[in-house]
Amino acid sequence: MKIIMLGAPGAGKGTQAKKIAEKYQIPHISTGDIFRANIKNGTELGKKAKTYMDQGLLVPDELVVDLVVDRVGQEDCTKGYVLDGFPRTIPQAEALDKALAELGQKMDFAVDVEVPDENIINRMSGRRACVGCGATYHLVYAPTKMENVCDNCGGELVLRDDDKPETVKKRLDVYHEQTQPLIEYYTNSGILKTVDGTADIGDVFAEIVGILGA
Ligand code: ADP
Ligand code: ADP
Ligand code: ZN
Repeated sequence: MKIIMLGAPGAGKGTQAKKIAEKYQIPHISTGDIFRANIKNGTELGKKAKTYMDQGLLVPDELVVDLVVDRVGQEDCTKGYVLDGFPRTIPQAEALDKALAELGQKMDFAVDVEVPDENIINRMSGRRACVGCGATYHLVYAPTKMENVCDNCGGELVLRDDDKPETVKKRLDVYHEQTQPLIEYYTNSGILKTVDGTADIGDVFAEIVGILGA
């Protein structure tokens, strides 16, 4: 099963993608996580990506597309995967469709997690990321067992630089301008499914499972 997660920054794509990956035993591929791992390891790609990410801008398509196309061609992706944070532009979506067509494959679902802009800033200010493993929490809605300590690895939790309110505003503008057109793109290709992202994490997941099938 091949799934794309769509939605504004902070809509809950990553949270749901992780749960989907666990339930359906498929890889969770997050381009944001890949970039953050590259930044942490000081790679050339990480250095380039960081200059865009810090400003709330998208990393240029040419730095993202080959990376994802390579990744979905790997052995562990033969049964499917869930893409989180990719595609984010029409050219990325077209490049993905083309690459899949060459492999004789196609995407099954694009799940749009809908959350109004007014909820996003609040959600992002409470998001915390583990410096050790990248796991995501929320101070109120997805708290750790021990305050400021990652449940997975014991690492410290931080507010991501790009989750500060000024940068979140910019990212929302970028989302509406460059990513939202994908909703029409996947409506036209017949695979768009919309879920209410304002519900509790478990209820959103139940709605998604209803779509994907148990
Ligand atoms: P969020 O979880 O808030 O949606 P991500 O972790 O997916 O954010 O992405 C963080 C940043 O990484 C984005 O703001 C953007 O700069 C960059 N990025 C991630 N995926 C892509 C992509 N497919 N195309 C361009 N830039 C991307
Ligand atoms: P995205 O990947 O779309 O940027 P995340 O999955 O990182 O979004 O979620 C953003 C923040 O909101 C995180 O702190 C997460 O724990 C929290 N969150 C995710 N889904 C919900 C929900 N349904 N209700 C409340 N908070 C949520
Ligand atoms: Zn951790």
